[in-house]
Amino acid sequence: MGRFYVTICADTEDNPPDYVPNWLVLGSNYDVNAAIIRFDWTKFWDTLIKIFRKNRVPITWLLRVDDAPIKDLMLKRFETRIFDLKSEGDEIGIHIHTWEWDSKSHIWRQTKDHNKEYEIVKRSIKHFRRSLGFPPLSSRMGWNAMSNEIMRALEEEGILVDATCETGYKCDGMYGGRDNVVDWSKAGEDLYHPNRNDYQLPGRMKLLEVPISSIPEEERMLFKGSPLDKLINSRLRTIMEPLLPFVSTLFESFHISAHNVFYISSVWSTSIIKRIIDLYVDKAKANQDSFLVGFFHPSDILEPKKGTVNKSFADKIEEIMRYITLQKQKVALNFTTLSEIAEIYNNKHAH
Ligand SMILES: [Zn+2]
Repeated sequence: MGRFYVTICADTEDNPPDYVPNWLVLGSNYDVNAAIIRFDWTKFWDTLIKIFRKNRVPITWLLRVDDAPIKDLMLKRFETRIFDLKSEGDEIGIHIHTWEWDSKSHIWRQTKDHNKEYEIVKRSIKHFRRSLGFPPLSSRMGWNAMSNEIMRALEEEGILVDATCETGYKCDGMYGGRDNVVDWSKAGEDLYHPNRNDYQLPGRMKLLEVPISSIPEEERMLFKGSPLDKLINSRLRTIMEPLLPFVSTLFESFHISAHNVFYISSVWSTSIIKRIIDLYVDKAKANQDSFLVGFFHPSDILEPKKGTVNKSFADKIEEIMRYITLQKQKVALNFTTLSEIAEIYNNKHAH
């Protein structure tokens, strides 16, 4: 039997932007320069940590850094917390958003200039190293952004493993094209060392790309190809805002999620995640090593309108951690961090 490796990553950043549905009241403001950053969710950080400790799950915290407007603000403000987490066995990696100030429309937006991307990634990792005194070994890019230039910058700065890839996902930009410009349409589901000339294909780079675990797109939901599916993929997230508590129950009952990847969110169904877990357990049973990699946003622990703790999100995290732990009865389960995956994978595939 193969081994079942499980890695949980946290995109650890500020409150979501106020242009994202539901976050109008408590979201960070990216329509001004300098941006107004809030970090309110961090008052419930302990609630999340307790759940993972109770279930003995190490977390790979991918800390938000960029070259502007946040820079090393998060690293400085939460330095004590960061070192505590590290000493408790969690991994501290980096989460970089490639913002630039658009002086015409007066908003912060994702740059599409690959040379700027390269510079932003290089400088962000330098901020990290200078603030914390150790290098990040793992990364996940904001909005799943990737280019040959970003990949090269990550590798040059000593990143061993990156978990940005969402197999098959392509998007020309959300929120008026402001962010989420991404292309992983050619990437497969297996771990790979990228090709220097095409980050989506296997090649000879030292860095290991670890796709977020997924199920085939066509199994994502019950109503594939239906008008409801089209609505979810286009505008539902904005339209349904007042109905969220209701639709979230509905999504759960009908296994509906806008994502086909292992993403624990406050809105979408956890039943999709359980199906992904089952799929990866089956792989291990079929005598292959299986690497299950999922992620969440710690900021979801904040209820975006009232500022209270988001109990249902905490419950979802707990439910998924328990579900994974139960798999011990079927397979040899190991919780790992992202850089540990790189070590395990590279050892097994060394010639
Ligand atoms: Zn992010």
